[in-house]
Amino acid sequence: MNSIMLPGPLRRCKRIYPVILFFVSIVIIILYRLNQLNKNAQIHPKHIYRSNNQEEYVDKNGIRVVVGHYVGNPIHKIPNATYDMINTNNFDPRPGAGKNGNPVVIEPKDLLKMQQYFQINRFNLLASDRIPLNRSLPDFRRKKCTTLFEDYPSYPKTSIIVVFHNEAWSTLLRTVWSVINRSPPELLEEIILVDDASEREFLRKPLEDYISTLPVPTKILRSKTRIGLIKARLKGALVAKGPVLTFLDAHCECTTGWLEALLSVIKSDRTAVVCPVIDIINDDSFAYVKSFELHWGAFNWNLQFRWYTLGGRELKQRKVDATQPFNTPTMAGGLFAIDRQYFFEMGAYDDGMNIWGGENLEMSFRIWQCGGKVQIAPCSRVGHLFRKSSPYSFPGGINKTLFSNLARVALVWMDEWAKFYFKFNEPAGKIKEEQNVTSRLELRKKHQCKGFEWYLDNVWPQHFFPKDDRFFGRIRNLGENKCLIKPQKKVVSNQPMGIAKLETCLGDDLTLEMFVMTPDGFVMTDDSICLDAPEKVVLGPSKVRIMACSGYNRQKWIYDAETQEILHLTNRKCLDISDSATFTDGLVTTNCTGRRTQKWALERVAWK
Ligand code: UDP
Ligand code: MN
Repeated sequence: MNSIMLPGPLRRCKRIYPVILFFVSIVIIILYRLNQLNKNAQIHPKHIYRSNNQEEYVDKNGIRVVVGHYVGNPIHKIPNATYDMINTNNFDPRPGAGKNGNPVVIEPKDLLKMQQYFQINRFNLLASDRIPLNRSLPDFRRKKCTTLFEDYPSYPKTSIIVVFHNEAWSTLLRTVWSVINRSPPELLEEIILVDDASEREFLRKPLEDYISTLPVPTKILRSKTRIGLIKARLKGALVAKGPVLTFLDAHCECTTGWLEALLSVIKSDRTAVVCPVIDIINDDSFAYVKSFELHWGAFNWNLQFRWYTLGGRELKQRKVDATQPFNTPTMAGGLFAIDRQYFFEMGAYDDGMNIWGGENLEMSFRIWQCGGKVQIAPCSRVGHLFRKSSPYSFPGGINKTLFSNLARVALVWMDEWAKFYFKFNEPAGKIKEEQNVTSRLELRKKHQCKGFEWYLDNVWPQHFFPKDDRFFGRIRNLGENKCLIKPQKKVVSNQPMGIAKLETCLGDDLTLEMFVMTPDGFVMTDDSICLDAPEKVVLGPSKVRIMACSGYNRQKWIYDAETQEILHLTNRKCLDISDSATFTDGLVTTNCTGRRTQKWALERVAWK
């Protein structure tokens, strides 16, 4: 049968053909998958700017770099959705749609309809309504995760609490079914849905009828008036029977093993508040996209929640064992598990907070400062549908609500840093007097909670807030009489984001030109951005960049008060203005010559 004659040497190698073929196919499959992942992630426009200068995006690796806040402006300007569209349940599952977390493709003929429906919940409702409630999802866990929780029957049971306001049928019930399908039944005490005054017809009797058929005891609590997610979660917690409370947003999808990994942490430490790794359900395509693991949650100078790259202790620990829970300064807020008794012991939620926002920081500060811990369990992965704006009305106005909530957080937990927050966030400063936080301060006293300085030093040593041990203020170049400025373009996780620049100096209250210089030599500003230069010694100048802070030596500097030079720690070159056309107006490090553009004044600005 050897009909094809091969040249001699090739004939000898014939037996390795199948092997080569095998490897080539593997490579092709891997390339194809990578390409698909990229495509999923790229469905998001790269940057989405919001009306109050907030921004969020998913980068090409599917990493959601920033989680933002509510802002009103709709991005999509299209025919309004009709009353009927809003109030009808249009769930219309197609077999295989969204299977294994794949994106849903909408045919061109339905594009207008899609856009109309998009406005209702500010996500692609048409796509969501085509995905079955029990769609399959990829399992992104590390292999070891599958072996760690074999003793799960001994874990405490949990009540699942899902609060919602005008949620879509398909997203709400996909959340519920993903819990039912992917949690060991022995660990599910009940599911509690808390309806925060929804107006949709189908969320009334039809929902009640539907949940009565579910295999896990499920109840609905209703609030007649709009109470907001904080009070709605409290309402659920008050009736919950399980020894653990697990909160989920109403548009999540849990993946295999998610619950065991959360409950095992609480079993061994009742003071741990545990979050899953939050993957991304794309708001356009409903693709389930893996999020980056080496991130933790913190916040910026405006008290906006942010994901930053992991460093220090936690990064080292993860390198040893990437399946172990690790500390996080704050949690995102929507998805976490907590021991029920501990939840109430520690003050549950601040019921002086309204509608949405700030409760995640409040709980994180409180738990850390009062002796507990907030952690992320990497073996637990839950998808959350992130969207670019809020579909809800905000009784009382978005800003008023959010700033009041954040003012409460600052007043109760942040000590001197509250002054910093109010000084540089005027709208919050203006309404701080209206807040009565007496009962929360009493709670803090009762539990003898530690101060915010302890929190910054111990929980988040990489923070970029001012402190008495470091410089805070303006960095002025004496040669040009201009100031170092934070670039307005946002930092892409660990990607160079551009050259460091000078601008005409502004005023005291403008954070754009405020920097801290830490005792370690990091020159940092808001949002974890650092002055960065290569360590390698080269002839001539090297570009200085503004980058996401990394903790590496290339971001360390020394200020010599006598010569007024800012020197790079490792190569001792001087920070200077480029005089060459190639670097335009960017900063460089170059040999120290004593010329005036190498002289800098560190002008302190009062922050408290
Ligand atoms: N929610 C609520 N009442 C409100 C606002 C929000 O019950 O007044 C619910 C909402 O349906 C969701 C959860 O609270 O299940 C978190 O809100 P959302 O998902 O809009 O916040 P995000 O995830 O964008 O931070
Ligand atoms: Mn949500």
